[in-house]
Amino acid sequence: MGAMFDWFIEEKRFNSFAAAIEPLRVAAESYISDLEYFYGYCWVCDGMRRMLVRSGAMLGNNPSLREGLLCEGCGLSNRKRLMHSAILEEYARTKTLQGSVLLLEGLSPLYRALAARIPDLIGSEYLGDDCVVGKEYEVPTRGRVRHESLTTLSFGNGSLNLLAHLDILEHVPDYRAALRECFRVLKPGGSMVFTCPFFAQRHEPLIRARVKPDGAIEHLEPPEWHGDPLNKEGILAYYHHGWGLLDDLRAAGFADVRLGVVYDVFSGFVSNNYPGGGYGLMLPIVIRARTTSAKAMASGTKHAI
Ligand SMILES: [Zn+2]
Repeated sequence: MGAMFDWFIEEKRFNSFAAAIEPLRVAAESYISDLEYFYGYCWVCDGMRRMLVRSGAMLGNNPSLREGLLCEGCGLSNRKRLMHSAILEEYARTKTLQGSVLLLEGLSPLYRALAARIPDLIGSEYLGDDCVVGKEYEVPTRGRVRHESLTTLSFGNGSLNLLAHLDILEHVPDYRAALRECFRVLKPGGSMVFTCPFFAQRHEPLIRARVKPDGAIEHLEPPEWHGDPLNKEGILAYYHHGWGLLDDLRAAGFADVRLGVVYDVFSGFVSNNYPGGGYGLMLPIVIRARTTSAKAMASGTKHAI
């Protein structure tokens, strides 16, 4: 069992959903923001747990509840607990495909929580351009971990059942190439589940920065740096993604692409708590992109169900 997702393929139905929950969202999040601890149901721990409301990440004067609501049992935030449910749901569906499962985290509490549920889960981190994909390296004070990059995975064509990553895509300058690379390594009927900051009022991405032919970074918007456990300076966000990302996933070859939402105050699945809502508001969402199953390909059906 896990959180129950509503899955959306386009903006209109999602916007109706968002409008319908808006009064609950505003009331619940202003209530939670004033607490030090929230008592909620953790689907990772499978029980009622105290959740620390503030992680330290702020959005103006509001605590970010996307990075907050840290469960005292498993240590996972709102965003990571939600991904835990999404990954296990897709794992249950794809495990008979007999390929590998890759999480592009290998040193985190989320990796440890999932490794307890998924035998042979492969975890990895991005350790820099000098490292060789597929090789293990020692990270000081953290341990040994495999290096992988979203743009050059070490895996063969069609070798993974499931691929999961969290808040990486906005940091990849050629993200469309990364999506094609993800599609390449997945088996027919396989699945990718991920998060990235999602700006539901946008369609086309906002290009914040780009890499020039000489390798220099050109900033088109004020630089936006995100926290990174393996890099003190943080990492640059190149994009604000919106609904066009779902089109990009389809263009990369994915057949069934959806945005999953769970708005469930009881389980500590709430929005990021962006002040005043609007452009920066992010509901608790994951993105799921499935490839066409072998059976559907054989029968000539375009979309996997
Ligand atoms: Zn927990």
